[in-house]
Amino acid sequence: MQRIAYASIDLKALRHNFLQVKQYAPNSKLICVIKANAYGHGMLEVAKALQDADGFAVACVDEALLLRKENVTQPITVFQGFQDIAELQACSQYQLWPVVHHTKQLELLHQAELAQPIDIWLKLSTGMNRLGFNPDDAHDVWRQLDSCSGVRNIRLMTHMARADEGILSEADFTEKQIQLFTASTSGIRAECSLANSATLIGWPAAHREWVRPGIMLYGASPFLPGASGFQSPDLQPVMQLNSRLIAINRRSKGDPIGYGSTWVCPENMPIGVVAIGYGDGYPRHIQAGTTLLIRGQSAKIVGRVSMDLLTVDLSGIDAAVGDEVVLWGTGLPVDRIAQQAGTISYELLCGIFGRVRYKYIN
Ligand SMILES: *Cc1c(COP(=O)(O)O)cnc(C)c1O
Repeated sequence: MQRIAYASIDLKALRHNFLQVKQYAPNSKLICVIKANAYGHGMLEVAKALQDADGFAVACVDEALLLRKENVTQPITVFQGFQDIAELQACSQYQLWPVVHHTKQLELLHQAELAQPIDIWLKLSTGMNRLGFNPDDAHDVWRQLDSCSGVRNIRLMTHMARADEGILSEADFTEKQIQLFTASTSGIRAECSLANSATLIGWPAAHREWVRPGIMLYGASPFLPGASGFQSPDLQPVMQLNSRLIAINRRSKGDPIGYGSTWVCPENMPIGVVAIGYGDGYPRHIQAGTTLLIRGQSAKIVGRVSMDLLTVDLSGIDAAVGDEVVLWGTGLPVDRIAQQAGTISYELLCGIFGRVRYKYIN
């Protein structure tokens, strides 16, 4: 027997979102970001469904090797690059495109004798200040890489820190990052990539030769609530998270529900029990009033979410034991649940793991 909870992954919606990206950035090549198991959607299945992608991107060499083992042939960008000689050799052997962001990696490149030269991304830090070289050093690092026999094509990239906030009224941060990148790389002839999902929707000037969408492929909004300055993209949710009602119990006025007795029945009422919890990736910290869907009806979750179960107020809801329950998906955006859990859709989506089953449709 399998766990009742399952994530249904709509590959048609995925392809629809992919075409949306193409409409936003018709002249750029598309690197589909499928790190962290494709944001919880299944890396291999997503890669296979996006045959028309010009490339894929993952966080680390291990993730890239999983793709190569399954005969994914497109260029694979590795955002964290190689950490040692063995990973660098793997980049050469499997023709990965690692990001070079640190002097340690320059040393490794100069030391290593690679069977085949590799394409690399030279990453500049223009405002994120996490990974990347100082933009002032762009020309210098570029020359060092260009003189390296193990390096074939050098491409340039940076990453935006605040694009998810939309276009900020004065002194827009993303605009400043674009300007800094452009100024510090002027004179270097190389293909460039600046745009994650939010940037590619809001700042066409950042499209350049390659764009790197992640979250919008999965149909969640790349923007935080309240962000403005762009047209809302037409995206379809790819993941629907489902489980079932496994019990309905009549409780009396004053009965406390669940761990900590944090919620008490205000009257006699039916309480449903759903077979899903934080052990499946549903967030434990949700605001009062967070809902789920049963037979298309919206019902409130009450009491604490526990590891395997959660409880729901079924007053006025037409429901029976065995009914399917939707935790997020069509009609109940994951963005809304994320907001009610004090997080972002990214965290909820890539937090689906382990015992939740996957069903791929379309
Ligand atoms: C994850 C990531 C992306 C994709 O970002 P989204 O906001 O999901 O579109 C792009 N570039 C880099 C460097 C990333 O780490």
